[in-house]
Amino acid sequence: MTVSFCRSCGRLVSRNFAYCPYCGVGLRPGPDAAEACSSFSRLEEMQANSREALIMALLDELDGIEADVEKLLGDRVSACDS
Ligand SMILES: [Zn+2]
Repeated sequence: MTVSFCRSCGRLVSRNFAYCPYCGVGLRPGPDAAEACSSFSRLEEMQANSREALIMALLDELDGIEADVEKLLGDRVSACDS
């Protein structure tokens, strides 16, 4: 087990720990601001793409429903005519 000293409280802690068990400070460096920003913009792009795909799928479904309704109404109208 590799150990190091907590840079906050100075106690001996395992390098496997993400947080110091004594004082709770993070022992691993997190993503820097630029990395976090690029992750967030990638996430927003993915959300926009999936939203667009969902809207397209719903519009297709709506077209199908409209066609069915028109077909049903057309059948009824022609049934009344005869
Ligand atoms: Zn500590």
